[in-house]
Parts: sequence; C-alpha cells; structure tokens
Amino acid sequence: MSRTTSVRRSSSVSLRNALVGAAALSAFFLHACRATHASEARASSLPAAAEPAPRTAPTSTPVPREAALVRRRASGTVTVRLSVPASATLEFSDARGARRNARRVGGEVALDDRPPRQSVEVAAGDGRTIAIGSGAYRGSLRISVEPSGEWRIENQVELEDYVLGVVARELGFGDRPREAWRAQAIAARSYALANLEQRGAARRDPYLFDGVRDQAYGGEPQPANAREGSSLERLREALRSTAGLVLLESDEYVDARYHSSCGGRTADGRSVFPELRSSCLSSVACEPCASSDAVKWSWTARRDELNALARAHELGDELVSLAPLERDGSQRWLAVELVGDRSTKRLRFEELRRALGRDKLRSALVLGLWPKAGEKLSTGLAFRGAGFGHGAGLCQQGALEYARRGWSAEQILAHYFPGARIEDRR
Ligand SMILES: [Zn+2]
Repeated sequence: MSRTTSVRRSSSVSLRNALVGAAALSAFFLHACRATHASEARASSLPAAAEPAPRTAPTSTPVPREAALVRRRASGTVTVRLSVPASATLEFSDARGARRNARRVGGEVALDDRPPRQSVEVAAGDGRTIAIGSGAYRGSLRISVEPSGEWRIENQVELEDYVLGVVARELGFGDRPREAWRAQAIAARSYALANLEQRGAARRDPYLFDGVRDQAYGGEPQPANAREGSSLERLREALRSTAGLVLLESDEYVDARYHSSCGGRTADGRSVFPELRSSCLSSVACEPCASSDAVKWSWTARRDELNALARAHELGDELVSLAPLERDGSQRWLAVELVGDRSTKRLRFEELRRALGRDKLRSALVLGLWPKAGEKLSTGLAFRGAGFGHGAGLCQQGALEYARRGWSAEQILAHYFPGARIEDRR
C-alpha cells in the first residue's frame, strides 16, 4: 500500500492544526468520550445550537499511544468490488475515451482482440477515469471471471477518492452543510478501514462492496449541471479537511455504521448487528428526527405479499398473524413471530425487512400495526413507523440538521458514537 505521506502525526497535533477551533473541540470530544455509558444524559446536555465549548489548555490533551491493532493506515488504496451487468461483453471507455471491450472466454478474459488471460488490468492514470456502466472510476480496474461465470470487476482506488465517491452517493452533493459532509466522510472512512481490517484476517486481499452491503459508491461524482459542479467543489474542499481522520475506539477503527433517519432515537448497534465489534454505537436521542413528521411512514402489506412470505418460510399457504417478539431499548422490533396456517416461525426483523422490501418496511421502529399484533389477518397488514434504515450509528437526517444548527463534525460524531475519538491515521 502506498502512502500519501510518510509523516506520522499524533492526533492532538493534527486535530489542532487541521480543524477549526480544534483545541476547544478536542476537549469537548474527549469529555464526551469519557461518558461512554451516559449517552442519555449527554444527549440532553448537548447544545441545541452551537455554543462555545469550554476553553481548555491544549496541553491537557493526552497524546494517544500508538495503536497496536490498527495496521492499515488511513491512506493508500482500497479495493472495491463493483456490481456489474450480466452482459456477455463488457464495454468501457478507457482514460483516453477509447471504447474497449472485454469478452469471457471460458474462465478467462479477452480484452479487445488480444488472447484471453486470467485477468486484465486497466489503469486510469493520474486525474483520469475509466467509464463503465453508469460510473467513472479513478485508479484501476481488474477484470476477471468468477467460477460461476459472472464478471468480477475490482476497482483499486485511493482511499480519499473512494470516500469522496461514497459521500457523494450517501449524502449527495447538492445544498448540504459542510460539517455534515465532514462527519459523513470520517464515518465512511472509519467504516471502510474497520471492515477491511476485519476481512483482512480471513483473506489476503480484502475488498468492499459498492452497494448497501457496505457503502454506496459510484466512482467519481458526476455533476449534472453547473450548480452541482460548484457544490461538488465545496464537497471536495470539505473532504480534504478530513483527510486521514478516523474514529477509533480502544485501538481499533470504529465500525461506523450509519443510516438515513433514526425516527427520534438511534438503535443500539449490537442489537441490530450482533457481530459488531465496536461498542460506541449505543442508542442516543436524535432531537431533529424526534421533532420531524417527515421521518414518519406507513405502508400496508397486501394479502398476496403476506402469503408469499408464509410460503417462503414454509409456514403454509397463508400468513395468519404477525407479532413482535422482542424490542430493544429504542422500541425497535428485533424479532417477530410469524404464524402461518401450517407452522410458526421466529424471524429477525431485518430479515422481515429484506423479505418485504427495505423501501416499504422502512425501519424497525414500528409505532402501530393494524390489525393489532397477533390478531388474525384478513386483507392485509398496515404498518406505521418512523425512520428509514437500520437505525444504528450516525443518523444522516440528524447530522444534516445538527450541522445546519451550527454543530461541528466532531460534535456530531461525538453524539452518535459516544466513546470514540478522532485521530489522523495517515
Ligand atoms: Zn435521527
């Protein structure tokens, strides 16, 4: 892995240099970090609008010891596996704009008219991109064929170019407050590094997916007009100010999950993702969502959708009733009981969401059900709820609103990841 810089900077120094008002903010942040299990109290003590943090002498900030467990630096390249079309021929434009095509020949790849090889690599070169599908990618593409016969395309890209692509997709580059972009960038970078490190324990060349399994990434952002072009420039500038900054807990990168809107209170991370190593994704209040009607939703599952669910889980031909079995402290449903005309099953709520459609059953924060839980179903089942997404970690709607109220990225991250700290790990 190449490094963009050989100078290692301690966090206290880099934060002071890189961030606006960083001395005060890092004091604020370190204070927040001590309140690991006091998210409730801390949430209510956070300012509703930006208030000056107490001025503490920077020398009181402890210099963190070198992490033993973090091996991957927050720089160099990462590998992203791209979702690709099922077409037999893969067409793309190389860095000079020339049309190229790759064909599958047995388990090998033939680029243009050349003899087939096990894999081919195409490099974009400095400042250029390779266009494939709807995306344009910096770095390089390695094209090969899976044992199943499908295309496998891996984009090797500089971490900062990857983070830009993720933030542009996850938060958009329209009229967004700068500090929300910065918070999202630090979370996305931390998520990527935490997951690459964990996957690196099992395989030599770990990679990330470009969709909801990891983080949405479509390569280099493509502004549609001049207005989007100028906000993309603002986004680039905001992200440059976060280069190398990551969330750490103990000596590990934080697996910094995030979601669209929490509905008023974030989920406890480990309730949603039992495999989660980071403990700082605890349930916290999110005032912007709590006071917004825009995050409320309702959806009615039709009889045929419910019956398809029953058949898919071998419960019979009809779903008879549905009821929550377990809720977490934020009142999210963790598991449901499905009763079919032949048998009964317990299902994790996230599995139910996947089965019925994540865009329809938008979150586990179900506030109402008709017919009521456990009652016999007739024509359908109406859900009423709040929030969109799994609810763990950073709430994007909340982060946007807190940033509009004047919170810094550091304050936003301290709120949603109590117990984590920010360091420059380039
Ligand atoms: Zn929220």
